[in-house]
Amino acid sequence: MQIHQELLELRRQEKRITSEILDKLQLMEDCRGYLELGHSSLFDYLVRGLQYSEATAYQRQACVRLAREVPEIKEQIDQGRLSLSAVTTVYRHIRSKPTKEKRQTLKRIENKSTREVKQMFAEPFKAIKIQKTEYQDRVYLRLELSHEQNRKLEKLKALKSHKHTIESLFENFIEKELSAFDDTRFRPTKSRNPRFISKRLRNSVLKKSAYRCQYPGCDSSHFLQVDHIVPIRAGGDQRPENLQILCASHNQLKG
Ligand SMILES: [Zn+2]
Repeated sequence: MQIHQELLELRRQEKRITSEILDKLQLMEDCRGYLELGHSSLFDYLVRGLQYSEATAYQRQACVRLAREVPEIKEQIDQGRLSLSAVTTVYRHIRSKPTKEKRQTLKRIENKSTREVKQMFAEPFKAIKIQKTEYQDRVYLRLELSHEQNRKLEKLKALKSHKHTIESLFENFIEKELSAFDDTRFRPTKSRNPRFISKRLRNSVLKKSAYRCQYPGCDSSHFLQVDHIVPIRAGGDQRPENLQILCASHNQLKG
């Protein structure tokens, strides 16, 4: 097919141009000419000076750095045996390795797709990862799940109702958990142990303390415990007036 042949030819040219660009970028980095042009780094030059997206700029920069140590990768890129994105994927795994190892690894990823390379270097997935960034008006949570965890989440969504989104699932979850704590229905204490503090009682003391340690000068909200102001061994009891919240350190201090 004519158009296919034309595209193949263009793709060849594209690869050639890519390695030419890498060559020139290397020269630019060597003479640090971007400084004169008002850029603070090669990366900044790629983004502001050459209008690459940040992701593409990162790829170009990774390849320039690698090509300095392993110059033959430019030829591999030129001939299409290595793709920029495959090289970039592997870059952070090998950047601090000795040159010999870099060369071996780059050899191993020849003719592999980025997807295959990603699989080769997949790190074992431990648990749900959350990255939290707080701004004045909003809090951003970046949630990272394994595919398995994501499948479970999708299953839960489907089981609940088709109206549910991940957002509404989270909202429901938070509300439900919170209302379980706020539940003030009276439940008779099952234990006769004078030290036993029911969940309800604990929650009301916590609420009164605004979820902070009540030791003078401390307002820690970590590892909060209910403390008997007058200890039970000294005749203190469970009446709310005799209960306060202390953080673990201050509870320990009190002994
Ligand atoms: Zn404290």
